[in-house]
Amino acid sequence: MPRADDTDSDRLATLLDRAGTGRDGQAWSDLWTELYHNGSLEISHPLVLPTLADMAESDHPDTAGSALHLAGALLVQADQRFEAQDCRRQYAPEVERLLAAANRWRQTLADRNGYCHLLEAVLNLEGDIHWAEDLIWGVVSEEYELDCPDPDCYAAVWVIIGERGSFSTSEDYALSDDAETLPLHPAAPSALDGLGLRLYELALSDGHEDVAHALTCAFGEAICPQCERRFSVVQQVVARSN
Ligand SMILES: [Zn+2]
Repeated sequence: MPRADDTDSDRLATLLDRAGTGRDGQAWSDLWTELYHNGSLEISHPLVLPTLADMAESDHPDTAGSALHLAGALLVQADQRFEAQDCRRQYAPEVERLLAAANRWRQTLADRNGYCHLLEAVLNLEGDIHWAEDLIWGVVSEEYELDCPDPDCYAAVWVIIGERGSFSTSEDYALSDDAETLPLHPAAPSALDGLGLRLYELALSDGHEDVAHALTCAFGEAICPQCERRFSVVQQVVARSN
């Protein structure tokens, strides 16, 4: 019987090698499944972060973007599993290389969703917050499904951010033509601070005005259609991810 370690190494080496060609979507999908979703392969394996860092430093934006997205998600998941951020410490040089690569690619990538996933990777690689995926998911999909923060209400609220307008509604907008909508209150750029201000300025300086606008909505306020309470969108994004 081969040892489990050897089998894992072979499996990882094969998948990473295929993923690195940039033409094998199935290999990326298998890496997400086995490293992230079911954990049958380990982020702490010595092949994982060093190989993803090599890919992030390659000349291929798609391969680099995929490597950065996966590495960031794996690190945040490992933070939550091991608490003490062991993986970040053990692989500090690789995390530094990945973060530098994410910040380089961010300045050149024109594709909106690819850019959003790079912002997510930057936040995940920095490791200061665990809810970057939830924050960016709403910018990419142009909607958040949240809960009203009022404990007597707690209604489901959809916050829609996009070209068809920015508003909150109590029903899944995609399934309903006549749902009541209430206008969103985006944050004035001059009122942004902290993470909101930082991301807004990054998106602007990287040439993604529409992402910057979506971020003013994410860091702005919505009104619950049920109880009319006005609340911070990002605070409810955080509440959902806890
Ligand atoms: Zn409410």
